[in-house]
Amino acid sequence: MTRSLANVAGRAVLSFGADGSVDVGRASGGRFGPTPADVLEDWAAFRSWSESIGPDAPPLIASQLGPPVPAPRQVFAIGLNYRLHAEEAGHDTKGLPQVFTKFPSCLAGPIATVPIVSPRLDWEVELVVVIGETCQRVNEGRAWDRVAGLMVGQDLSARDVQLAGQAAQWSLGKSFTNFGPTGPFLVPTEMVAHPDDLRITCRLNDEVVQDSRTSQMIWGVAELVARLSSVVTLFPGDLIFTGTPAGVGNRREPPRYLGVDDVLVSEIEGLGELTTTFAKEAS
Ligand code: ZN
Repeated sequence: MTRSLANVAGRAVLSFGADGSVDVGRASGGRFGPTPADVLEDWAAFRSWSESIGPDAPPLIASQLGPPVPAPRQVFAIGLNYRLHAEEAGHDTKGLPQVFTKFPSCLAGPIATVPIVSPRLDWEVELVVVIGETCQRVNEGRAWDRVAGLMVGQDLSARDVQLAGQAAQWSLGKSFTNFGPTGPFLVPTEMVAHPDDLRITCRLNDEVVQDSRTSQMIWGVAELVARLSSVVTLFPGDLIFTGTPAGVGNRREPPRYLGVDDVLVSEIEGLGELTTTFAKEAS
């Protein structure tokens, strides 16, 4: 039975898909939880405990869910990590990965509404990696062992803010409120059959605008964990947005941007989907 971690009103809930759910803090008598962050601090023990537990509540519905990791210490994001996207953006693919952040206050859940804060608001579906333990200088061959699980992410981007000025403002341009939808669940890595090769798609109003596989990443998950941890200490719950495939709006001819009432569905094989709706900015 697939067991994945959800955030329901700030509490960690184990989801068994259509078979139901269980509140982690209550079912474990306080041993784990009550928040998703608490669960991630003791991930390995939680994973063994979760194997002995079954559902005692109804299945979760997407509109109940918050971001699986609502307040990570660090959010890393990788730019230009798919060959065709790097080429469409006019970059070569031989250099080092571009690393920036999405400030954690931009994180949202799987059903989110985003105000049109920019005339150049663009989409980027991405695989998001969740770190499972404190680590530094991780060997690439052991890097997947440090990963708690995976989820779908959207790296929404205000291109006008991102590309303003002489040195671009990537982190700011990608951190407006609700610019980081994630979820719907944190799916433990061992529940994913081939985590290095998942179909990744994005649909805008039912038109497929991005369609690739995570095997097309230039720097794979293990390389990214190794490279980031060669500089930074990684902590449980830290997120890595691993980059987007080709098909974003600002590289189209003519460019295409998100507007009021657009609906964006971001999906990764085995991990589920995010539905993001765009609305007029409150005045
Ligand atoms: Zn991105």
